[in-house]
Amino acid sequence: MLLPADFEPLWAAPESVGDDGLWFVFHRGNLLVYNEQATPMLPMPSDVLSGALEIDRAAARFVGMLGNMPVWAARAGSAAAPRGHGFENMRALFNRLPDDMLAIGGRAVQMLEFDRTHRFCGACATPTEIHEGGRSRKCPACGETYYPKVSPAMMVIIKRDLPGGRELLLARSGRFQRGMYSALAGFVEPSESIEECIHREALEEVGVKVRDLRYFSSQGWPFPNSLMIAYVADYASGEIVPQEGEIEDARWFTLDNLPVLPHRLSIARRLINSVIGEVAPDHPALGA
Ligand SMILES: [Zn+2]
Repeated sequence: MLLPADFEPLWAAPESVGDDGLWFVFHRGNLLVYNEQATPMLPMPSDVLSGALEIDRAAARFVGMLGNMPVWAARAGSAAAPRGHGFENMRALFNRLPDDMLAIGGRAVQMLEFDRTHRFCGACATPTEIHEGGRSRKCPACGETYYPKVSPAMMVIIKRDLPGGRELLLARSGRFQRGMYSALAGFVEPSESIEECIHREALEEVGVKVRDLRYFSSQGWPFPNSLMIAYVADYASGEIVPQEGEIEDARWFTLDNLPVLPHRLSIARRLINSVIGEVAPDHPALGA
């Protein structure tokens, strides 16, 4: 998910901007969208925001400008969606909502989550106040300042080139859809570098050592607030031992026998495709 080129992320609305525009309205983390399957789905403009949704306008968050259109985020008190609309899980919208709308929606939901989870100071329990034009929240009593949480996580595709061809080490968690395998991923721990995290997680999750780490790309992932930082690594040594309770299965896959892979818009898939494409530019997985 990448923010569109004509989107300007801002924290506070310019003086001249009213509350018309694009509204990302959430109820329990689900986004309000048009229901019609055949048309691209877009969040609703504010003139059709229904009173039945019980939107707290005072708690709405300005998200930025899309061209000359202001973008807002708000929570609905009720799931009573207007006719032709419905609340849907953001993950389930992957195939249907345009990629740039998903990216803006990811920013919107994280800003609302920041407000919801930082209403009180964690040090002294005083109610916090909006600070720095909305970029942070500050405690008026003790001065502690809070910023939206972003949790860095590493992702790594481990590969090896044997006489028979390239093999990828892919793993699955019990939470994945049936048959799907992906690259390894894990959260960075305090004071750890991304590279240290990759070496540690590879050993913990599948019991192998890796070498020659190469940065691939990164992607904000609003489920709920990760920043995925992706690398390619070469296998160095060790036999695969899946981590109990974490990894349901992990194995080497040859390119002519790949399992179900993650969605094409995910960074995991782009990462996996990059190492397939290096040796098999016409591989069917690249087009799917
Ligand atoms: Zn405080």
